[in-house]
Amino acid sequence: MRNQTAPAVAEAERWTAHNYHPLPVVVADADGAWVTDVDGKRYLDCLAGYSALNFGHRHPALVDSARKQLEHVTLTSRAFLHDQFGPFCRALAELCNMTEPLDKTMTLPMNTGAEAVETAIKVSRKWGYKVKGVPDGQATIIVAADNFHGRTTTIISFSTDPDAKADYGPYTPGFRIVPYGDLDAMRAAIDETTVAVLIEPIQGEAGVLVPPLGYLPGVRELCTQSNVLFLADEIQSGLGRTGETFACDHEGAVPDMYVLGKALGGGIIPVSAVVSRADVLGVLRPGEHGSTFGGNPLACAVGIAVVDLLRTGEFQERAREVGAVLHSRLNGLIGKGITAVRGRGLWAGVDIDPALMTGREACERLMVAGVLAKDTHGSTIRLAPPLVVTEDEINFAVDRLAEVLH
Ligand SMILES: *Cc1c(COP(=O)(O)O)cnc(C)c1O
Repeated sequence: MRNQTAPAVAEAERWTAHNYHPLPVVVADADGAWVTDVDGKRYLDCLAGYSALNFGHRHPALVDSARKQLEHVTLTSRAFLHDQFGPFCRALAELCNMTEPLDKTMTLPMNTGAEAVETAIKVSRKWGYKVKGVPDGQATIIVAADNFHGRTTTIISFSTDPDAKADYGPYTPGFRIVPYGDLDAMRAAIDETTVAVLIEPIQGEAGVLVPPLGYLPGVRELCTQSNVLFLADEIQSGLGRTGETFACDHEGAVPDMYVLGKALGGGIIPVSAVVSRADVLGVLRPGEHGSTFGGNPLACAVGIAVVDLLRTGEFQERAREVGAVLHSRLNGLIGKGITAVRGRGLWAGVDIDPALMTGREACERLMVAGVLAKDTHGSTIRLAPPLVVTEDEINFAVDRLAEVLH
């Protein structure tokens, strides 16, 4: 068979900015947990678009919702309403279940995760000035070291990753960085200027770091005591990935704001949102914040279908059950090329013994063996297959990993 991969890789490298270092695989088709490249080779997708593909590639219900909506209306801008908008925001209120009564929950839809995080930051600052009474221009937000919240100038201003931050200053002030998982450090950093704490309930990019038990309820309590908003960035951890709808659910912690993205768009279209209480999101007035594409009809139609998939609990249960297989198999490789495994549900950070190979090398070898995964920070690889993956497919992936580490 003619090798179509090499010329396709060369063409992509020639014409694109090198802000990514993709594996040399050129995908042409995808279905469920599997993708097929331009030469017809199949791979099990164990990255799932960094959790944007929680429901797998081209889930029939999601593709249907998009196709149907394409026959009606795809964009109005927020200057007008459309018939998918109210139902989408209502569906998110039901999914997040933050308030009693439910209609005290508000949603602000955006497109990308970074925009949702920016929204969370702006709303918290305004809430700080208008509701908490922080002196003008003084608001501070507490964030965690090794965070990943996106790529805008403001968001990278509080990154601790030099690759994300260096050379992009001057930086946005107003953020205090504390170690992740350390409640005492967070308590010490909070003062009367603090409007919010922004954290990932599990740190994805940092290598799937699960905080110590009690951390999330501790953050909740600290925020309540100090009149500070708890902003949970569930863009990667939320919507079923960890075995619950939200990673915060594992410890029963309810934040003041859910920041959502990735899987909310069903792998079809960028959809993000912040969901919070009316006393928080209610500080915004017309004209103060928004996005041309935010909450468009196509996005809302897909978002409604995503929430519908999550209502049955089936995906959360799959993530728990198949995730247990993933973790027990991976734990069996500790000492055999793997030094540590972290994570929850169908989400694992796997530390490769650095004496053996880098994470990148492991991913390149996995690719040859028919499994797609992504390295993060040197010797760690991240496994996050679509939640439709089967136990047999997980066994296939871990068997291939065991082989490449041999
Ligand atoms: C991916 C991600 C973001 C940014 O989302 P984009 O859609 O890439 O802008 C923010 N926070 C977390 C935790 C993420 O995983």
